[in-house]
Amino acid sequence: MKKLIIIGGGASGFFLASNIHHSKWKTIILEQAKKPLQKLKISGGGRCNITHACFSPNKLVKYYPRGSKELVSVFNYFQPSDTFEWFLQKGVNLKIENDNRVFPESNSSQTIIDTFIQQTKKENIEIHYNSSVITIKKFKDKFEVITTDSSYYADTLVIATGSSMKMWKILNQLGHTIIPPVPSLFTFICNDPLLHNLQGISFPEAEIHISSIKIKEFGPLLITHWGLSGPAILKLSSWSARELYKMNYKFILRVNWISDTFDNAREELIREKEKHPKKSVYTLKIYNLTQRFWNNLLENLHIHDKNLADLSKKDINKIAESLTNTQLQISGKNIHKDEFVTAGGVDLKEVDFRTMQSKLIPNLFFAGEVLNIDALTGGFNFQACWSEAYIISQLLNSI
Ligand SMILES: Cc1cc2nc3c(=O)[nH]c(=O)nc-3n(C[C@H](O)[C@H](O)[C@H](O)COP(=O)(O)OP(=O)(O)OC[C@H]3O[C@@H](n4cnc5c(N)ncnc54)[C@H](O)[C@@H]3O)c2cc1C
Repeated sequence: MKKLIIIGGGASGFFLASNIHHSKWKTIILEQAKKPLQKLKISGGGRCNITHACFSPNKLVKYYPRGSKELVSVFNYFQPSDTFEWFLQKGVNLKIENDNRVFPESNSSQTIIDTFIQQTKKENIEIHYNSSVITIKKFKDKFEVITTDSSYYADTLVIATGSSMKMWKILNQLGHTIIPPVPSLFTFICNDPLLHNLQGISFPEAEIHISSIKIKEFGPLLITHWGLSGPAILKLSSWSARELYKMNYKFILRVNWISDTFDNAREELIREKEKHPKKSVYTLKIYNLTQRFWNNLLENLHIHDKNLADLSKKDINKIAESLTNTQLQISGKNIHKDEFVTAGGVDLKEVDFRTMQSKLIPNLFFAGEVLNIDALTGGFNFQACWSEAYIISQLLNSI
């Protein structure tokens, strides 16, 4: 019987092993940690956002800043509806939340871990924990895989090591190009006084913009105790992961808090001034802004309490400008606890996406974050792991 070694007992390694027929392959997973699936365990805040309810491969790939072109054929083979079916067949019900993120009904990542462990037991997969791979040697039609305390031979090798610097070095020595890794999916640190004591306040439709790299995003924005977070920030961090790294995460972020134009905001303020001349500017309610934000904004502009009638043209322009184009100095990045990934990894040009096989080394396959593929937050990163691993399993089962 042929021997298959999967390096990495994470999401893609276990999904692959769960789909390999033991009648075809003697399979071993080599995992450096003493337990499997540790990242999956903490994923989605411990609930595991397993996929996204987007069932059109052409639409789905738009959520992948890196890998969208290559993933079209991969998702045509195995996509979120297949993920639903696969887990349902294993007795795991999934649920779709309002924002289309998909979780196990149990709300616990342990359900997914238990499923993979049961499935790999059924397929007689050997799992060797505390087995950190330090070298891979390629012979004519075999691989030698050397761990810290042992050595293994395999006919076929799958690399499913996630964002491991050590493995990227090994793959580089074998001839593969590695696109340098940089973080993706993070939040922004900002100490601007406008944000002081506003943690928890959100803006449902903000527009954010970094003019130096000409990038714009829309969506909900959240003020946190360290700066800014929310879907708009996470999307921007993902699409601009590489540019923001080059800027050392220091740049000016322009924020339109109300998603309206300067002229409209100005007209709205003039209308309010005409309607309620005796009203205090501090009690003005426009664009559903919270009182705390409005107070900070006025204080920041040094517009002290006065009646609307006493607002000068200059004051009105300053407020409209601040509502639609606040410039904030971002001074760094912070981790988004629910999900983060690495942009970078094995160069996609060197992989055949019909099989997930290396174009340079026959019988060497890749799945998961080891590749230069990553997505926005929302279950897309796991979906890429499931689809890539499934393609490999079907090819190996057919040999
Ligand atoms: C906090 C957090 C939450 C997340 N939540 C979500 C979410 O809800 N939904 C989503 O879609 N994505 C989420 N992600 C991203 C998702 O976890 C990853 O995209 C996914 O785990 C990648 O799977 P993988 O199999 O490629 O790598 P991993 O899951 O990282 O597994 C790689 C495995 O390889 C092992 N390994 C590495 N090097 C070696 C070596 N040399 N020898 C032996 N073993 C080795 C590692 O120990 C690890 O177990 C989250 C990420 C984080 C950090």
